[in-house]
Amino acid sequence: MVIAVASGKGGTGKTTIAANLAYFIRDAQVIDCDVEEPNAHLFLKPEIIKRETMCLPIPVVDESKCTHCGKCGEVCEFSAIFVIKNKVMVFPELCHGCGACEYFCPEKAIREEKREIGIIESGTAGGLSFVHGILNIGEPMSPPLIRRVKELIEPGRTVILDSPPGTSCPAVETVKGADFCVLVTEPTPFGLNDLNLAVEMVRKIRVPLGVVINSCNIGDSGVNEYCKNEGIPVLMSFPWDRRIAEQYSMGTLMLKNLREYIEHYATLFDKIKAELYSKNETAHSHKR
Ligand code: SF4
Ligand code: SF4
Repeated sequence: MVIAVASGKGGTGKTTIAANLAYFIRDAQVIDCDVEEPNAHLFLKPEIIKRETMCLPIPVVDESKCTHCGKCGEVCEFSAIFVIKNKVMVFPELCHGCGACEYFCPEKAIREEKREIGIIESGTAGGLSFVHGILNIGEPMSPPLIRRVKELIEPGRTVILDSPPGTSCPAVETVKGADFCVLVTEPTPFGLNDLNLAVEMVRKIRVPLGVVINSCNIGDSGVNEYCKNEGIPVLMSFPWDRRIAEQYSMGTLMLKNLREYIEHYATLFDKIKAELYSKNETAHSHKR
């Protein structure tokens, strides 16, 4: 089972929920897909066992063979290569390394060179398996690195994906293909606005979802009403608690010291499983 933990905006407590849920499950795998700002390791403190460099192949043009036919620019979906005034221009920051330009060049004038975009580290944290990607500073191309860390999903294990915040490509790349998405929000007009966008995004990629409301004892009732009207299950509501903030500021998992919250995570995990079960049942009954 792959559970993505996402949010429409940063600062909602998404990583806190992801890390503590994994800690509660115990033998889960945590994959931090927030490759621009990975921070799940600060809570989980994994022992890193393996480190690999992530490179993207980018095209290099041999001008002596090039006839400036423009085919490479035509096949590039990302406007990363085109011909201008008898010169082929390549924009490595836009290149997704798909290899189409090299494949379709009629003169075999293109070869690939590797460009490093980040690193992937994996290891263990207690009984948890841990993976995160770290994108190089200034590097705009996070989706290929997210795809690569997701390739390290261990089959048969419960996997928690800590998604980047927001609703753009990195979040879509993370949540895509998950069995379930937990959207973490706060009960404020800002939280509601971003939750609305996140729900749209997750529904578009057809992943079942539920909501966790953080700091539920402050703010207003807008998020609850929205979830009710949209038929979205509220999986867990968390009060604002100074002690949770203190654990966070020390980089400690709240479940290690605030044992009374274990019930909250038990309920969260049970509700996710129940939602998945009912979705599968509905899908099967439609097939029958
Ligand atoms: S497809 Fe090949 S030959 Fe044509 S412009 Fe591009 S690099 Fe040059
Ligand atoms: S490798 Fe793909 S993305 Fe990069 S320039 Fe060539 S066609 Fe475009």
